[in-house]
Amino acid sequence: MDSRPLLSVIVPCFNEQEVIEETHKRLSETLTQVQGGVEIIYVNDGSRDRTVELLFAIQARDPTVRVISLSRNFGHQLAVTAGMDAAAGEAAVLIDADLQDPPAVILEMVELWRQGYDVVYGTRSEREGETSFKRVSAKYFYRILNMLSEVPIPLDTGDFRLVSRQVLETMKSMREYDRFVRGMVSWVGYRQIALPYKRAPRFAGVSKYPFWKMVRFAGDGILSFSIVPLRLATWIGVVTAGLGFLGIFYALVLRLFTSNWVSGWTLLFIAIVLMGGIQLVMLGVLGEYIGRLYRASKNRPLYVVGDRRGFGDPPPPPRR
Ligand code: UDP
Ligand code: MG
Repeated sequence: MDSRPLLSVIVPCFNEQEVIEETHKRLSETLTQVQGGVEIIYVNDGSRDRTVELLFAIQARDPTVRVISLSRNFGHQLAVTAGMDAAAGEAAVLIDADLQDPPAVILEMVELWRQGYDVVYGTRSEREGETSFKRVSAKYFYRILNMLSEVPIPLDTGDFRLVSRQVLETMKSMREYDRFVRGMVSWVGYRQIALPYKRAPRFAGVSKYPFWKMVRFAGDGILSFSIVPLRLATWIGVVTAGLGFLGIFYALVLRLFTSNWVSGWTLLFIAIVLMGGIQLVMLGVLGEYIGRLYRASKNRPLYVVGDRRGFGDPPPPPRR
C-alpha cells in the first residue's frame, strides 16, 4: 500500500455466498463517489459455504479489496474487530454484508465526518422484512440496556457506523474479550451524531443471528456495560429479609396474644422454594461475571487469522 486511504469499509461475512457478489457490486459502485481512496476489508468469519472463495476471487480482480479470513467462526463482533485492527483509513465504516444497511448512507456518513464528527452512527428509523418478534425484542432490549448501562448507548442503533481514526485507535487498545462494539464506541466518546436510515430487508440468505445467539448478544451487551444485575442480589436480599422479619413479628404476635398458632406447611414450603430459586438465579448471575473474568484472565488473542489477501504482505507459507 502506498498511502493511507481515506476510508476503510469493513464487512463481516459469515456464510454470505448468496449476497456477497451483489454487495460488492453495490458497495464499490457507491464508493467511487468518495474522493481520496477507499479500501474494502471483507472479514470471512469461518464461513462453511463458498464465501471465502468468492471473496478471494473478488480480491483478485479489485485492487481496493482486502480479505481477512479467520481460522474459524469467532462471531460477528470479533469479525468486526479483526477488520478494525487491519483498517488503514483515516476513517472506517462498519457495514453488514447482507445489504440491510444501504451503501448510499455511507456517503452521508462521510459528509458528517468531514464536518468534524468522530462517530456517525446509523439509527434504524424503520426496519423492513424482519419478524415482529425481532423488532419488538430489539426495541425493548435497547431501552433496558440504556437504563442499566453506565454510558448512554443510543437506541435502535446497530454496528452500521463511521468512526474516525482517533476512535479507531482507542478501540484498538480495548482488548476485552466479550465485545459489544456499539457500546464500546459510545464509551469512547468524542463528537458523536446519529444518522437515521431505513433498514432494508436482507438481500438474500438467512439471518445469522438465530434466537439463542440474539439472547447471548443481548446478555453480552448488558453484562459488559452494567453491574446492576450484581446489585440485584443486594436489593432482593434486603426485600426478602424485610419480609422475613415481618413474618417473625407476625408469628410472635400470634403466639403471645392469640390461641391461633400458625398452622400448615404451605407458607413454609413457598418461602423455601422462593428463596432457593432466588439464590440459584443470583448464583447464575455471579457465574456469568466470573466466567467473563476467567475468560479475560486467560489473555488469549481475540481471534486467529487464517489467511490475508490484498494487504501487500508476502503470501503466508503453504499449509501442510
Ligand atoms: N456475521 C458474522 N459472524 C457471525 C454472524 C454474523 O460475521 O457469526 C455477520 C453477517 O455475515 C452479517 C452481519 O454479521 O454481515 C450481521 O448478521 P445478520 O445479517 O445475519 O444479522 P441480522 O441482521 O439478522 O441481525
Ligand atoms: Mg442482517
